[in-house]
Amino acid sequence: ALVVRHRMKSSGKWARAVAILKELEEKCGTPSSKLKQVADAMTVEMHAGLASDGGSKLKMLISYVDNLPTGDEKGLFYALDLGGTNFRVIRVQLGGKDGRVVKQEFEEVSIPPELMTGSSDDLFDYIASALAKFVATESDSLHVSPGRQRELGFTFSFPVKQTSISSGTLMKWTKGFSVEDTVGEDVVAELTKAMERVGLDIRVAALVNDTVGTLAGGRYNNPDVVAAVILGTGTNAAYVERAHAIPKWHGLLPKSGEMVINMEWGNFQSSHLPLTEYDQELDAGSLNPGEQIFEKMISGMYLGEIVRRVLCKMAEQAEIFGDIVPPKLKTPFILRTPHMSAMHHDTSPDLKVVAAKLKDILEISNTSLKLRKLIVELCDIVATRGARLSAAGTVGILKKLGRDTAKDGEKQRSVVALDGGLYEHYTKFRTCMENTLRELLGEEVSGNISVEHSNDGSGIGAALLAASHSQYIEAEES
Ligand code: BGC
Ligand code: MG
Repeated sequence: ALVVRHRMKSSGKWARAVAILKELEEKCGTPSSKLKQVADAMTVEMHAGLASDGGSKLKMLISYVDNLPTGDEKGLFYALDLGGTNFRVIRVQLGGKDGRVVKQEFEEVSIPPELMTGSSDDLFDYIASALAKFVATESDSLHVSPGRQRELGFTFSFPVKQTSISSGTLMKWTKGFSVEDTVGEDVVAELTKAMERVGLDIRVAALVNDTVGTLAGGRYNNPDVVAAVILGTGTNAAYVERAHAIPKWHGLLPKSGEMVINMEWGNFQSSHLPLTEYDQELDAGSLNPGEQIFEKMISGMYLGEIVRRVLCKMAEQAEIFGDIVPPKLKTPFILRTPHMSAMHHDTSPDLKVVAAKLKDILEISNTSLKLRKLIVELCDIVATRGARLSAAGTVGILKKLGRDTAKDGEKQRSVVALDGGLYEHYTKFRTCMENTLRELLGEEVSGNISVEHSNDGSGIGAALLAASHSQYIEAEES
């Protein structure tokens, strides 16, 4: 009889499931007071990262972008946007002051999963051939003037130590990429070699992070944009810093007196972060343990996975899905954030979207309404924590800029450009993030600060920066 597995009574099981949820809710708590500590810690780390390389978990990377778009940018430019499971190729005709973006065309290409963990040459060859195909579709209405070399802005959304506006070495991969032989290499050289292999002659005029591209694209449309935040597969922010507030910058002081900083805030860490056992286990099992801790609590690659891990624990310890753990539920990353979002937004009285997701993704059927409600609550806890932390990070930037308080008589407007699939498609996440910003800044200041969706600004932004760093610019100006 001793070997017979003990079965909990069903009321005991339910109580256990509720207890697991309550404990999670407590550990994930983000009251204003805690978020203010997180924002303060972000500001402190920003200072430390600007002081010296390696001074903080926040890399505070110098982008070499010391001028943001003015609207004068002119000509036909390409952009290549690589940062997640898809990449985009873009062609844009810039018309200068009056024309602005005259015309744009783009194509989206998905990256075969095996290339995300393969060799550098294979990855860049794939990208270069897709680009070559796209370039071949230049039409009469949208083409580069004869005799002029094509130029491209390369949005590469990983931590890069830039050596100039158009070169930089990859420090590490994030977001599930793991192409070991690219680390330490100049990614522009890797791309250029691959383009040569496929017979494509394009000059990379600017290498930018997606946050920097979004900041550039945002500024092009609105002069009050001072920072950009990406909430997508990964998360990160960039902002405009005063050059003399960057002790580690030993180069010439730019004429503008400004420098865009790519914070790489996904790697932020602080004892104030509300971490749980699920976060620790997720991190330990990830491709980059110990790295990108802030990102793993916030971004789209991970939110669904956190929910899956909690459901697993409930299945094991509270038998919420019967006396075995459903095999699909044990598969890492099977429950993606879009699934989670769909369940979280389910407003049908019997929660039929939740039931459908459980069935389609996890092959679980016959769940009670009570259990489906509990799952919606679980999604809410995980999404709310991520959204509120991203608001706290944003407040940290505004503090660093001295834009978090109302100044007497001054009406200083600050706009933060936001983009990324999580922000764009997960409505409850977006609303919570925006509400939390107001909560932390207070009514008076909130009136001067706004967030703006910069739809696919990162690609256009890279094209704009390619234009302002074009090899033809001086010739044209003199
Ligand atoms: C990368 C950043 C990028 C962010 C958003 C992070 O994983 O490290 O460089 O900006 O994702 O795409
Ligand atoms: Mg978009």
